[in-house]
Amino acid sequence: MPNDDPPGGDAMSDGLMSDRPTSDGPTSDEIVSIAPATGKELWRGRIGDIDELVQRARRAWANWAAQSLTTRIELVRRFANEVRKEQDAFAELIARETGKPLWEARTEVESVIAKVEISVRSYAERTAQRRLDSAMQGTTALRHKPHGVMAVIGPYNFPALMPSGQIIPALIAGNAVIFKPSEKTPAAGEFLVRCFHRVGIPANIIQLLIGGPPQGAQLVAHDGVDGVLFSGSSNVGIAINRKLAGNPGKIVALEMGGNNPIIAWDTPKLHDAAALIVQSAFTSAGQRCSNARRLIVKSDLYDALVGEVKKLTARLIVGAPFDDPQPYMGPVIDNAAAEGLSDSFVHLLSSGGRPIKHMVRLDPDLPFVSPAIIDTTAIAERPDLELFGPLLQVIRVDDFDAAIAEANNTRFGLSAALIGGTPQDYNRFWANIRAGIVNWNRPTNGSSAGAPFGGLGLSGNNRPGAFYAADYCAYPVSSAEMEQPRANIGIGLRDE
Ligand code: NAD
Repeated sequence: MPNDDPPGGDAMSDGLMSDRPTSDGPTSDEIVSIAPATGKELWRGRIGDIDELVQRARRAWANWAAQSLTTRIELVRRFANEVRKEQDAFAELIARETGKPLWEARTEVESVIAKVEISVRSYAERTAQRRLDSAMQGTTALRHKPHGVMAVIGPYNFPALMPSGQIIPALIAGNAVIFKPSEKTPAAGEFLVRCFHRVGIPANIIQLLIGGPPQGAQLVAHDGVDGVLFSGSSNVGIAINRKLAGNPGKIVALEMGGNNPIIAWDTPKLHDAAALIVQSAFTSAGQRCSNARRLIVKSDLYDALVGEVKKLTARLIVGAPFDDPQPYMGPVIDNAAAEGLSDSFVHLLSSGGRPIKHMVRLDPDLPFVSPAIIDTTAIAERPDLELFGPLLQVIRVDDFDAAIAEANNTRFGLSAALIGGTPQDYNRFWANIRAGIVNWNRPTNGSSAGAPFGGLGLSGNNRPGAFYAADYCAYPVSSAEMEQPRANIGIGLRDE
């Protein structure tokens, strides 16, 4: 059963857990979070004052940076313990606020905990201090310094994991962080920030900004912010990039969306192939940046494989987060998203798509949609968009070159997978595909937290996160050093 109690402890914002009907809409200075699976209000809180948060962070960050690395690491390790202590309540809150099944919310919280050790290792491997040489001329030291005040802007689909993947490395490196969670998941954001505060990380070093797009836009452009770590849609990432184009000194890491391909080639293991395709397309109700959106399938495999995928998809349970038995997937985030997906399905149909499995709104008032599959081979101009939900397009091709060309027929470049094929096929696929995550006989959304995570084109700006997040949380300083001045001008001097 969902826990309807507010997360206990210190009062940090005036965010309130609630279970009222949605009738009293937000006032102009409030953000209200609605539970997708019930349509009920879950939380409301006041929009933050950006100038004030930035001023506090600016005053505080140098002290934090001056602490020893060991102290900062010790504190984030305590944070991991705090999250572990609270993991049931946290998972329940995430499940309620995003609508994702409880089992999946639990894996998100476990990944937040694991993020701490990965970030400690990443800091040491990616940005550790080094002595480069020690000739007669002294040594050169390579050290890293924090940027100062970082803005972390989060998406709704992983309201705890995505921001943690940026906040934890930013704190270890010695930055202060202002975190703006998605306006759709502020309660999870607040819970996360409380866990940092409870273990003694100063309140001004990790601050919560409640707000929506206008506050995000204002925060990233604020002169007192030294860096922007963003995960979200490509449109918003591009808007941030444009806004900061005249400010090259501000570091900007953009983790954005994808229109990810999965190629299905020769394999005797049709059932496994179908399971990998279904996982790739429909995990998290298709609301992962790394979900497969396009299944590119060899013609002579088409009937058998697509038949298997359709059969398996029809068995997926769509339900509320705390249902028993647990659903495979929950609702999408809100009714606007459900309508947008249904409209996209209809648009693809009217453009020449052939339905394999229709998208159905399962409840007229709530955003539950059934997973849908449509063959878009006959559509000449397939829209190159991220359709962020359980909607898989199928494209039939005759040869492997055509499959790779079709997979690359996108401006995005986040993840891609080949299912089946020979090692030679995989080598060709790996060499020619444009994506930051390239998998073989694994789902498009399978990636290790111990590896970098990022994409090309509209998917990212070449600042991958996860294991490489340390890279954008600190900047390298090269220092030629000697204990005493020792110098002699050996050429080009007049006699004394
Ligand atoms: P979104 O882009 O709508 O919003 C993300 C965040 O940006 C929110 O906090 C929002 O308030 C803020 N925002 C909106 N407009 C802004 C502006 N002009 N300036 C600054 N901030 C602004 O994304 P979403 O719908 O919350 O999340 C889903 C998207 O995130 C999908 O596109 C998904 O692919 C992507 N995503 C990418 C990754 C990745 O690692 N590549 C991970 C998770 C999600």
